[in-house]
Amino acid sequence: MSLILVVNSGSSSIKYQLIDAHTERREASGLIERIGESMGRVVHRAGSVSTESEMPIRDHRAAFAAMVDACAAAGQPLSELGLSAVGHRIVQGGSEFVDPTLITDAVAARILELAELAPLHNPGHHQAIVAARAAFPQVPHVAVFDTAFHQTMPPEAYTYAIDTEVAAAHGIRRYGFHGTSHQVVAQRAADFLGEPIHSLKQIVLHLGNGASVCAIDGGRSVATSMGLTPLEGLVMGTRSGDLDPGVLLHLLRTGYSVDQLDELLNKRSGLVGLAGSNDMRDVRAAADAGSARARLALDVYARRIRHYVGAYLVELGAADALVFTAGVGENHAPLRSEVCVGLEWLGIEIDAARNASLESGSRRISTDSSRVQVLVVPTDEEAEIARQSWQLVSSDRASSQSRERTESLPG
Ligand code: ADP
Repeated sequence: MSLILVVNSGSSSIKYQLIDAHTERREASGLIERIGESMGRVVHRAGSVSTESEMPIRDHRAAFAAMVDACAAAGQPLSELGLSAVGHRIVQGGSEFVDPTLITDAVAARILELAELAPLHNPGHHQAIVAARAAFPQVPHVAVFDTAFHQTMPPEAYTYAIDTEVAAAHGIRRYGFHGTSHQVVAQRAADFLGEPIHSLKQIVLHLGNGASVCAIDGGRSVATSMGLTPLEGLVMGTRSGDLDPGVLLHLLRTGYSVDQLDELLNKRSGLVGLAGSNDMRDVRAAADAGSARARLALDVYARRIRHYVGAYLVELGAADALVFTAGVGENHAPLRSEVCVGLEWLGIEIDAARNASLESGSRRISTDSSRVQVLVVPTDEEAEIARQSWQLVSSDRASSQSRERTESLPG
């Protein structure tokens, strides 16, 4: 049995999926929100049946109890299904977590310490880890880090040009995020092309509400646009992406507080700041209806992506594949065409009909003569977390079994 409970937790919400790591089949999924508020909400889906209930959910422990109840009520008692592992998505793993990691007390404590670098994410992850380990004490828990895939970047790609002592004292460097997505999409693109990943140079554009680009050489991340935090790089739904750091100093001097700046850059910038909505569909509709503001937002959005594509082509020295993924990348043909327009001289030629096709699954949108294969490849971070968790616990089990066998051999 390879059933994995994948947990994506915040300080007031937990998203979960029950996934068979082999088949990638979803046995169930759900969302628990408003943890700690006077009234919480639990949504559980199994197949085509969805149930919703409201109840006070005091803390993360109560949230896991509610999840166990919701699964049992849907005829999926977790105690009988035989969970192989709980896989926890962790945003910030610092420089030390480069692989999926079995969660021990020490690992959990380190994830909490790393909250210094990810105050919005790691505290909620830690609360969920403590609660989930209490709820499922017999099951191995695995941490899968958004930052891990990018730890192969060379120093010149992750070093910011500031005083090295200040940087060292505060852990300031580029960590990069969306690593699980970049990793699974790069592998799926290689599978689609029928080429070994180690022979490919790829640029992956993860364009969702959060957005980042990654240069991947032979399956290894060599550059990525997000930095110390998931704020740097591309224009996102509500985040600014790249900005002159002088803007922050200027606003601080004009009286903005740190919290106001945080809110401005994380929640009121990007598409929502420029055009009033963080949803690409709304912004496109407004631009098509003649809004100059929405048109400018789209132009800034696409131009920033092209800026990184150019930079990463130079970084890689060539590209075999340019891959679009996540909500915008998978579903929004006009943007893909705006990113690629005029790049024929770089060997990037998209085919208008293939780009407009509503086919699902991995697909090619470049012309047959395009030197660079332009692909749309759906991401699936949860399935990848399930796969990595399963791989770790099954190899751990295999190695402890072989250790036991060796130890029991007559000496
Ligand atoms: P998250 O970063 O929250 O995981 P997703 O990858 O699901 O985000 O992307 C969500 C975004 O994708 C939406 O805000 C919207 O802008 C965009 N999106 C989703 N579906 C479409 C669509 N059919 N056409 C254009 N944009 C879409």
